Amino acid sequence: MPSAPPHRLPDAVIPERYEIRLTPDLTASTFAGEEIVFLNVQEPVREVVLNVCELTIHSASAISAAGVTTEGKSALDEANERAVLSFSPALGPGTWKLRLVFSGILNDKLHGFYRSTYKDAKGQSKILASTQFESTDARRAFPCWDEPAFKAVFQVTLVIDGRLTAISNTGIVRENRLPGTGKKEVVFRDSIKMSTYLVAFIVGEFEGTEPVWVDDTPLRVWSVPGKRHLAKFAQEIGRFSLSFFTRYYGRKYPGDKLDLIAIPDFASGAMENLGAITFRETALLVDENSASRAELERVADVVAHENAHMWFGDLVTMRWWNGLWLNEAFATFMEMLAVDGWKPEWRRWDSFATSRATALFVDGLKSTRPIEFPVERPEDAAGMFDVLTYEKGASVLRMLEQYLTPEVFRQGIGLYLRQHEYSNAETTDLWDALEESSRRPVRALMDSWIFQPGYPLITVQEDGKGLNLSQRIFRYLQDEEERDRKWQVPIHLKLGTKNGLQHQWVLLTGAESRIELPQPPEWVVVNAGGHGFYRVHYAPNLIDRLKNELATNLTAVERFHLVSDVWATALCGLTPLKDYLDLIRRFQEEPDHNVWTIILSSCHYLYRMLEPGQRPRLHRFICDLTGAMARRLGWAPQTGEEELTSQLRGELLAALGVLGNDGATQAEATRLYRSYTNDKRSVDRNIVPALLSIVAYSGGADDYEEFRSHFKNAQTPQEEQRYLFALASFRQADLLERTLALTINGEVRTQNAPYLMRALLFNTDGRERAWRFLKGHWEEMLRQYPDNSIVRMCEGITALVAPELEADVRDFFAAHPVKHGGKTMEQHLEKLRIAVASKQRWNATLKSL
Ligand SMILES: [Zn+2]
Repeated sequence: MPSAPPHRLPDAVIPERYEIRLTPDLTASTFAGEEIVFLNVQEPVREVVLNVCELTIHSASAISAAGVTTEGKSALDEANERAVLSFSPALGPGTWKLRLVFSGILNDKLHGFYRSTYKDAKGQSKILASTQFESTDARRAFPCWDEPAFKAVFQVTLVIDGRLTAISNTGIVRENRLPGTGKKEVVFRDSIKMSTYLVAFIVGEFEGTEPVWVDDTPLRVWSVPGKRHLAKFAQEIGRFSLSFFTRYYGRKYPGDKLDLIAIPDFASGAMENLGAITFRETALLVDENSASRAELERVADVVAHENAHMWFGDLVTMRWWNGLWLNEAFATFMEMLAVDGWKPEWRRWDSFATSRATALFVDGLKSTRPIEFPVERPEDAAGMFDVLTYEKGASVLRMLEQYLTPEVFRQGIGLYLRQHEYSNAETTDLWDALEESSRRPVRALMDSWIFQPGYPLITVQEDGKGLNLSQRIFRYLQDEEERDRKWQVPIHLKLGTKNGLQHQWVLLTGAESRIELPQPPEWVVVNAGGHGFYRVHYAPNLIDRLKNELATNLTAVERFHLVSDVWATALCGLTPLKDYLDLIRRFQEEPDHNVWTIILSSCHYLYRMLEPGQRPRLHRFICDLTGAMARRLGWAPQTGEEELTSQLRGELLAALGVLGNDGATQAEATRLYRSYTNDKRSVDRNIVPALLSIVAYSGGADDYEEFRSHFKNAQTPQEEQRYLFALASFRQADLLERTLALTINGEVRTQNAPYLMRALLFNTDGRERAWRFLKGHWEEMLRQYPDNSIVRMCEGITALVAPELEADVRDFFAAHPVKHGGKTMEQHLEKLRIAVASKQRWNATLKSL
């Protein structure tokens, strides 16, 4: 390997410490900066190469250990986002201080050092500045070695308006007024040794909670003024998860304080800057009395996820971006573990099945990718923030944890953190630590899941007294490619026998395996507990026997995967659609909301295939399917009812009122919605989202006007979000036109507008109009929206289920390739292909629903 691959910085100069002083001007949208970087020069260098993007360097000089200054010349290499600093004479080996004076802009693309705006309680426009550096945008705020392996200590000073607040990764050493300027200087403590992408600074009018203490760490939640009352829930899960992780990892929290900060404009969900985690408002601020359980769970998830990163990601970091998946998969896994520990009644691992199913969908495509793949250019890492990294990654970790046992897994994690703290690691380092703790061949097992795309379909047949298990790659679109690919599959069997329930683990490594049993089982569940990342295809006699055990011997997760797997085999042509529909008709009394989620999402999928004349049949099918359970649950919670049941009530009512187009449900929803707008406490918080979606579906211009006004004047981030996205569910052409206009006219934040567009594409009554609009305003959208959101918006094209639309979509994206769209764009197109092909194959069945 040459010492400097083309996309990597040379390693002859190592930064050890940055002292950064920034003076942002919020009204002019600029900042001035000055930094001293303490360097360790390994060999004589005439050039120092570091990352810079959209910064102007005014001066560069190097000061030797003896105090001699050498002036440098700076040349920008814009294409590679670098600056080359030339020194004559050369800088000799040893320690140097590099002093740079620079300036930059506060941009509005939600990356680097950027501006966010909001209106205060009096309706006045306000500006704040925040940072978002992952993956490679620290270079937009200060010149730096912007690669994760160049870990250094950061000491930040911010010079800001005297009435503003500044937050950074560490606690404040001192604040000094600067006489005669109206400004103050806020000096922060040294950080731990960490990567550039984790540095953060936030400046504006902020209101913080009192701290809660976790051991000796103060934890606060920050928001723009007037929202502090929405911080309590996040602070509680923040406290719980920080303490949970300290125990789980067996290591102290690595920072000196922890701030959770809500930013009005934020491109992703949240960002794990050490000690200064930034969030979009919906992921942090919430009113426990009015938010639905699902909305509360979202806040708990995101806070726990980011806290998990403080160790996994921040303390120990991937060496290069190919290892990003491990950061994210692990934080997602830990998020489940912590939220499950906090509120066991939410059964978080059960609902994780829906995430696993989303990953199984994408990973069953020909255009999937391995979890880990070579990343040369850092911008290729942008394509890694997807369902395969987060959800598939977390699923295979959960599968491994269950196979090794949770305690052995935990010990391996602790060992890994001890071995690599304040440093960087590769994926294989984790498997090595787990091999050491478990004394089992973890690396060979995991390599088959991490470096190969896809997953196996396990076929199960009776074989004398025993069972025959075989594996082959699962694909929605059949072909002969990669048929020989094999995985090491840990399989958990649950057997019903004359002597009761029996459990057995099998590690399937070859194409097939015969399992000897003392007697033939009465029934068998393959993938018991649902932790395996594979699908199961039962022989007809085995599935028939399982159908009789649904209510007695299958857990909710096992029922979920049964439905999910049969649906997948229907989509790929292995199971007739009619068999799938017969299966789900048996679920009319189903009490679990996740199982309903998979059933109802398959019905939405079918609905998108139907011609308008065929839709009434599906409406009736839905009314028959959901009616019994919806009637049993009624419209109001019963005393002592579980929160998950309240959530199920909302979901079934929404299904009846929208997908079932049931007039009585629509009338009652409208009545209750009126009552809700008069008195928010008159209706259970878990059915409010259903009321909004039913009223939007069945309502008209007056309702639209009202929703729009509620969106503008919402009291909580969740309320704002509900009303905004409900605007995409109306059906009249003129109302849809108005919502389409909102996506680009500046009334909706660019953090939300792309997702509003996606929702419009998913509206079966408005999708063609939405698609025309997208084509017509593509350039404007590219200009306005954050880069990472374009490909996510495009997921909406998967709803354009008609051959002529598909052809048009393909033509359009052939002419307008999505920057950094990569595999994800191919996946959207393939999903659309599958839906159109299934529509053609199922035409006869759909006509006779
Ligand atoms: Zn994360």
